Amino acid sequence: MAMTNLNEEEKAEDYLFKIVLVGDSAVGKSNLLARFARDEFYPNSKSTIGVEFQTQKMNINGKEVKAQIWDTAGQERFRAVTSAYYRGAVGALLVYDISRRQTFDSIGRWLNELHTHSDMNVVTILVGNKTDLKDSREVSTAEGKALAEAQCLFFMETSALDSSNVVAAFETVVKEIYNILSRKVM
Ligand code: GDP
Ligand code: MG
Repeated sequence: MAMTNLNEEEKAEDYLFKIVLVGDSAVGKSNLLARFARDEFYPNSKSTIGVEFQTQKMNINGKEVKAQIWDTAGQERFRAVTSAYYRGAVGALLVYDISRRQTFDSIGRWLNELHTHSDMNVVTILVGNKTDLKDSREVSTAEGKALAEAQCLFFMETSALDSSNVVAAFETVVKEIYNILSRKVM
């Protein structure tokens, strides 16, 4: 699980990258994972999708790697995401809902929590989800971008509903983790 160097004789598919989904309740974390891993969407999810984590094979630069993506399964409703959830994570998707400003305002707190419980170098993407809700947008793309730049995070806006950028958001994180590991190989 740790950021071990990739040796030539070791196969990339032997590596599991732990990625965590973080953010307020109902921003669409579980649905981003459902869309990414199973190409499914749940219009009225709450407790319906209680997966703890899902392992997804991905092809990065022609190599097969496995992303083990963790979902809070509702823990965040009680502001009680355990430190075990973050432990060993090498990547994170920090998710807010572009139609609810309050979820964007929470991002700083989630970022602190992530940095408290995991490695400071965890590869993180800020994700503004629900772009399909154009008419009720409360957070502009520029605001999201600015926060990401200030905090040195990747940034993308997604819609789990219409699939926009969902694969790209996960791939951005996994590719960067892979690149960091590859660069360490001399
Ligand atoms: P979580 O609590 O962060 O895991 O959020 P969920 O994945 O359970 O989603 C919360 C609610 O938002 C559900 O009713 C989803 O159907 C809805 N939802 C999730 N993603 C999107 C999206 O991209 N667009 C829209 N319109 N609704 C979404
Ligand atoms: Mg959920």
